[in-house]
Amino acid sequence: MKSKYEVVIGLEVHVQLTTKTKIFCGCSTEFGQTPNSQTCPVCLGLPGALPVLNKQVVEFAIKTGLATHCSIAPRSIFARKNYFYPDLPKGYQISQFELPICEHGHLDIKTEESGAKTIGITRIHMEEDAGKLIHGDTPDTAGASFVDLNRACTPLLEIVSEPDMRSSDEAIAYLKKIHQIVVYLGVCDGNLEQGSFRCDANVSIRPWGQEEFGTRAELKNINSFRFIKQAIEYEIERQAEVLEDSGRVIQETRLFDAGSGLTRSMRGKEEAHDYRYFPDPDLVPLVISPEWIERVRQDLPELPEAKLERFVSEYGIPHYDAEVLTADRAVGDYFDACVKLHGDGKACSNWVMGEVQRQLKDEGIGIAACPVSPEMLVGMLKRIADNTISGKIAKTVFDEMWKSGKNADAIIEEKGLKQVTDTGAIETVIDEIIAANPGQVEEYRGGKEKVFGFFVGQVMKASKGKANPAAVNELLKKKLQG
Ligand code: ADP
Ligand code: MG
Ligand code: ZN
Repeated sequence: MKSKYEVVIGLEVHVQLTTKTKIFCGCSTEFGQTPNSQTCPVCLGLPGALPVLNKQVVEFAIKTGLATHCSIAPRSIFARKNYFYPDLPKGYQISQFELPICEHGHLDIKTEESGAKTIGITRIHMEEDAGKLIHGDTPDTAGASFVDLNRACTPLLEIVSEPDMRSSDEAIAYLKKIHQIVVYLGVCDGNLEQGSFRCDANVSIRPWGQEEFGTRAELKNINSFRFIKQAIEYEIERQAEVLEDSGRVIQETRLFDAGSGLTRSMRGKEEAHDYRYFPDPDLVPLVISPEWIERVRQDLPELPEAKLERFVSEYGIPHYDAEVLTADRAVGDYFDACVKLHGDGKACSNWVMGEVQRQLKDEGIGIAACPVSPEMLVGMLKRIADNTISGKIAKTVFDEMWKSGKNADAIIEEKGLKQVTDTGAIETVIDEIIAANPGQVEEYRGGKEKVFGFFVGQVMKASKGKANPAAVNELLKKKLQG
């Protein structure tokens, strides 16, 4: 049954940048180090310490803005967002408010239910992250909290969407697209679990046909695509029930609890902060020249959509294959390298999407750690193409390449896997099998064509899989007809 309410979703994505150092000081951004070992007067918020903007952060922001069709502001301003929390030593976060670096972008998404659709991007701004609280969990430390400021002052981009999404599927499609783009650009490692890619989801519902938006709840603290979908769906149900019962959703921030799959209230609008934003007097306005933007544009890598189009039009592979192969930039590059060496796009995509991906998944490793290089894979594909081995034997060769690191020719030679194309030799085998199975020959000749498969199987077995399948088929047909 169609629901009475239309869903409205807007997302705020926090992307932690892969710069080596923090946004306003030279401290390292490396994850998982000893607490407070990566700090200095600036990121500790000591009085008198002055921030200096990391140029790489600006460059990453421009890249991301260009890749999401934003306009890049020639002049933008850093502002102080004032609030108190123990993980924020300065008592304010340096962010951007009125004049962010990027505005008015958009991304195209696709879902099964609503097809292709464009989602507006309101703005992208740069900001610093806060530190982390570690809550004591040993008998000695229970009840105490510790402050780790290693993460304080690490650079973030906040990407704010328009409230353009109308289902949890659209929200996930949009998020995955953003994720794919920032990882392609190399500005973020995309790790949701470690918190390098975080999302707050704003969700509201309204009766169909109503023009004004309903009151929204903001869902925080969700660290996987699956949980984001779950949290949004729970929230839609919850709001619909509230409207049915009492008629009023209140504006609030809610936390998702992965254990129960529920969201619960963290704070209401009444408790919401007034951040008293004002321009940071320690930082001059950021001026970006058209030449700088142009330089960054020239440097952009090929983005997923362009790569997908090229794979389809230049390499002639199906759209579906191209989509799978471009989902991950490294997989796309691997496939690209294969086709450049081999030429046969479909043969390459079959193997990269098939055996290569399967083995990687089995071993839980990424393609960067793949023991079979594009050169090795293509070395083997060439032996299939020139009939030295059959597609079936190729699987054995592939496994052996994976294990031993040897190339296909060496393995074929060593293990005697060369396909038998010598028709004389195949004929001898066929004759023996026909002689040994008179009953089945009778059946076949009596019109039971299914028995043909039995003979093919027997011949392949007798030749240990090495007989050329096309030759076997042809010769068998001839011989069985008598
Ligand atoms: P805040 O900074 O307080 O979270 P913003 O105006 O920046 O407020 O909006 C944050 C996000 O909420 C944006 O992504 C926007 O698209 C989304 N949003 C705004 N109004 C609604 C609504 N009624 N329903 C769903 N999402 C909304
Ligand atoms: Mg918000
Ligand atoms: Zn520092």
